[in-house]
Amino acid sequence: MSDAPLRSAGRKTIRPSLAPRDLMADEDLAGAWCARVVTLVPEAWPGVLGHSLTGKALRDGLWSLGVTDLRHHGEGRHRNVDDTPAGGGAGMVIRADVGARAVAAALDGAPAIPRLLMSPRGRRLDQGLARALARGPGVLLVCGRFEGVDERLIEHGGLLEVSLGDFVLTGGDIAAQALIDASVRLMPRVLGNQRSAEEESFSSGLLEHPQYTKPALWEGRAVPEVLLSGNHAAIAAWRKGEAERLTKDRRPDLWRALRPEG
Ligand code: SAH
Repeated sequence: MSDAPLRSAGRKTIRPSLAPRDLMADEDLAGAWCARVVTLVPEAWPGVLGHSLTGKALRDGLWSLGVTDLRHHGEGRHRNVDDTPAGGGAGMVIRADVGARAVAAALDGAPAIPRLLMSPRGRRLDQGLARALARGPGVLLVCGRFEGVDERLIEHGGLLEVSLGDFVLTGGDIAAQALIDASVRLMPRVLGNQRSAEEESFSSGLLEHPQYTKPALWEGRAVPEVLLSGNHAAIAAWRKGEAERLTKDRRPDLWRALRPEG
């Protein structure tokens, strides 16, 4: 069955008033960062990615989104995508043959992009992975459901398993949207002010310093005086000190990675 994946291209001609589902157009914009997703819940896409800065970037054609419905590739009249686990046990497992057909359809017409499976067993998503993906041509993300996918789909498809963290979600879609969000916001022109991506948590290996805005005094709490001093060197030193204090305190693992001797 022809899949006609809901390929969304952020096109300059798309009016900002269109609802997110209307962004699912047909042709990928040449050169745009290419995200392809295989899912059992296509209606959840682009979801939150269709809003705010990622949504604007999608409409502006900085990245494109193609969503392939796993169900379209299911077996038989009922388009079954899963079956009981070999060896017994609870739940259902997504079939390798069905998954592989959906992956092939999702990759159709895409450039050579890394293929990932969202999975609690995977390597943890971090800023380094988001940065590496953002620099590349895009990504294919397979979103699992139920008990997960047949291991042969992972082997056959050469899928790299990536986890959002040490907890279990009902499906991979939220994790996949988190990964795309973290990658897309690192692309030039997505954030209004590129410096905010350079200065924030993790980019220097440190957590970010505390931020304040107006009013200068609120509920008896003042904005630290140095931030209102206009002394840029003093402000930078204060921020660095706070970033180091927070990192040492909250994330000794990050701190040790920066200062192996102590
Ligand atoms: N039985 C599996 C969990 C399946 S959860 C196990 O114990 O490992 C169903 C699907 O949700 C998974 O296939 C995966 O795609 C997604 N998922 C769940 N937790 C996730 C996490 N922490 N990170 C990324 N994807 C996750």
